[in-house]
Amino acid sequence: FASASKESQDGESKAPLPKGVVLDKDGKPCRTCTSIASWRALTKLQSQTSPSSSSSNTSPATKSTPATASPATTPLNETPSDCPPDVEQLGRSTWTLLHSMAATYPEKADTQQQQDMQGFLKFFSKLYPCWVCADDFRDWMAHPSGRNQPKLGGRKEFGWWMCEAHNEVNRKLGKKEFDCRFWEERWRTGWKD
Ligand code: FAD
Repeated sequence: FASASKESQDGESKAPLPKGVVLDKDGKPCRTCTSIASWRALTKLQSQTSPSSSSSNTSPATKSTPATASPATTPLNETPSDCPPDVEQLGRSTWTLLHSMAATYPEKADTQQQQDMQGFLKFFSKLYPCWVCADDFRDWMAHPSGRNQPKLGGRKEFGWWMCEAHNEVNRKLGKKEFDCRFWEERWRTGWKD
């Protein structure tokens, strides 16, 4: 996780936070930047250190999780379906949106369509709810060589670019790279029999 430097290292005098917990810019744990496993470790730690307090703003899962979806019945690393997303669930949903946008992009995009997508990506990379992810994604797109700028001429090149963008994150997270020759089968046409 290349953003490890943005994880909490606890510069204050409180107990160290569990590994993987990423802080928001206001210094509070960022749920959408943190995996469910790290979030659970955090809420566990909080309940151990202040058992009587329900810790107003850092343990929404503990406060709102219904009994049927408690950590005890939900497999580790899985977010219950009716809880706020962690960084992984948010990521999966977002990649689905982004690749689907590429899959439905015009075969040949006119100037307006290219500008619209350029604008979307610009704002997306500022507003994505995991801020460390957004920062890295923006930096990647803005590589000084210009090599990572969105390729918006048409569906094929945009879909390939999106696949490369996703692979950049895959590499950062130590995940297997996806063979971009198959992006269209994965996201548009379905797999050949
Ligand atoms: P995902 O990576 O979410 O992929 C979903 C599906 O897409 C896969 O099952 C596969 O079928 C397909 N796929 C995989 N790779 C490709 C590809 N290259 N092209 C086309 N299809 C592909 N998480 C972090 O922890 N730290 C980050 O810094 C971070 N940055 C992110 C930045 C962005 C812009 C986004 C959208 C997400 C980011 N995430 C980050 C989330 C992360 O990428 C994953 O979504 C999350 O870890 C869940 O991974 P997954 O293995 O379930 O599959």
